[in-house]
Amino acid sequence: MATVSQSAAPWRTHTVFNQPPPLEGVDVFTSHTALVEGVQREGAGWVLERASELGRLIGGEPQQQWGRLANENKPILRTHDRYGNRIDEVEFHPAWHKLMTLGVEHELHSLPWTSEEPFAHTARAALYMTAMQAEAGFCCPITMTFAAIPALRAQPELAAEWEPLLTATSYDQRLIEASEKGSAIAGMAMTEKQGGSDVRANTTVARALNGGGAGAEYELHGHKWFCSAPMSDVFLVLAQTDEGVSCFLLPRILPDGSRNEFHIQRLKDKLGNHSNASSEIELHGAWARMLGEPGRGVPTIIEMVGHTRLDCVIGAAAGMRSGVASATHHAAYRQAFGKTLIDQPLMRNVLADLCVESEATTALAMRLARAYDEAHADAEEGENDTDAQLFKRLATAVGKYWTCKRAPNHAFESLECFGGNGYVEESGMPRLYREAPLASIWEGSGNVMSLDVLRALTRAPRALEVFLEEVREAQGADARLDERVGELESQFSDPQTLETRARRVVESMALCLQGSLLVRHAPAAVADAFCASRLGGEGGLEYGTLPADSDFEAIIARSLPDVDR
Ligand SMILES: Cc1cc2nc3c(=O)[nH]c(=O)nc-3n(C[C@H](O)[C@H](O)[C@H](O)COP(=O)(O)OP(=O)(O)OC[C@H]3O[C@@H](n4cnc5c(N)ncnc54)[C@H](O)[C@@H]3O)c2cc1C
Repeated sequence: MATVSQSAAPWRTHTVFNQPPPLEGVDVFTSHTALVEGVQREGAGWVLERASELGRLIGGEPQQQWGRLANENKPILRTHDRYGNRIDEVEFHPAWHKLMTLGVEHELHSLPWTSEEPFAHTARAALYMTAMQAEAGFCCPITMTFAAIPALRAQPELAAEWEPLLTATSYDQRLIEASEKGSAIAGMAMTEKQGGSDVRANTTVARALNGGGAGAEYELHGHKWFCSAPMSDVFLVLAQTDEGVSCFLLPRILPDGSRNEFHIQRLKDKLGNHSNASSEIELHGAWARMLGEPGRGVPTIIEMVGHTRLDCVIGAAAGMRSGVASATHHAAYRQAFGKTLIDQPLMRNVLADLCVESEATTALAMRLARAYDEAHADAEEGENDTDAQLFKRLATAVGKYWTCKRAPNHAFESLECFGGNGYVEESGMPRLYREAPLASIWEGSGNVMSLDVLRALTRAPRALEVFLEEVREAQGADARLDERVGELESQFSDPQTLETRARRVVESMALCLQGSLLVRHAPAAVADAFCASRLGGEGGLEYGTLPADSDFEAIIARSLPDVDR
């Protein structure tokens, strides 16, 4: 039989060259220098070894396989079984369950609530930022489970029942009674068709079964327009009672083992976040128990919302770090016009600018996480309105607005560093890009966050002084920062136009805080480039517009992932 020799095969037209090696097997934590420094600086150095172990794990299969598989194989809604019985189940790819198992076993959902170590929020932030670089979608239920705990504690008997389950370190995907599994995942359902930001417009109603009141049983009727991770075991839900909007704890499986009247209408066909299911649900007399006082639903659930906003900031830092690691790695190998891209002057500007943004976001996220540690410690001492609590409240809103707004364009520029390859799914960059706008919308869209900053200042005017005190810790170190801080103070002088100017004001607050953190803690090259471009008017509207005398090499070297070269 005649054979065609390999070398003569018609598809062997060329040798593949000038393509980078895959970015594999990297310790995602240790190679993130700004994060390693941040976690030590903010008090949780004890987690370094553990974070590095997680970093090595993430750089393997989770980053190389699981994230992609979980996104390519979207969750499927099964409303009925084959006999026509309503089941309301969502089927996920095994990679999703692997990611969930990883998240729960590494205590991304629980560490601050169970650890005896100091600065456990800060430690968790480092672990979460590392793990999210494998895939963002699974972090949604992980975050909601983490964030449910402080809200749950409003009702001690419900906390006694659910907190051990929600902080357990095993994951069980089965839709059975949580007490039988010994663990649980939490979701939240606030948003309705007629309004999400304005939850007081909710039409879902709750009817008391035995008199009502805090901890009592109710029956919920109505719908929710967005309910992510609908296979979670328990949800915090807002519904109207005679006293106003109230918060409820609603399990998917009832105490007798039967299914609650929680029905999934359909799954959203989303821009990104494809691994995760986001659903529309109907509650046909679903059984629930009131969490907190009647009519106090918003203040009760806001405890949860606040902690999810912290994770939006950490998540923005994770996305930017992914982008920077991928872009710098690609540019370190790819040649064009006779030079490696990383050595082309204009590409160096783009890469360095992306690195500076990533560093600023990481520094802010880690400082914010420490504020959560300090604020919780004060609350445990029975103290209210302490400096740490005021800073946490204000900096969460400022940080969520700004870092989440910066993320999409950062992802786009990182993608563009790959040229055409970046627009192709296999590079992983389209997934990063599609995910990027979500955190800005979820849990308080841009305007809502800006207005939340003003609300926080109206409720506690001293918060501004506490915030500025933190910023002023860098006073005298950089004239551009000092000048912007001076301008910032004057931006509050015309209250009548403050709402219209809110985005501008919050942007200035965020830049001053980031500038102060970098001036105090980052290498001079990073801090100088930040202050020149973001505070001193020497930058443009796009990335790649740092002043020509920036120390590009030093800035990029810190962010380039450490692989054998
Ligand atoms: C993928 C995904 C998953 C989600 N998962 C969940 C979930 O699990 N549970 C849940 O409850 N919700 C969830 N949401 C809903 C999300 O939290 C809401 O979409 C968000 O809070 C905005 O609410 P809305 O969509 O009703 O928009 P609206 O409230 O109508 O806001 C529309 C726009 O108007 C702006 N705006 C609102 N008020 C003002 C004002 N006073 N001044 C100026 N501008 C204003 C907003 O900033 C926004 O840009 C999810 C959303 C997405 C995209």
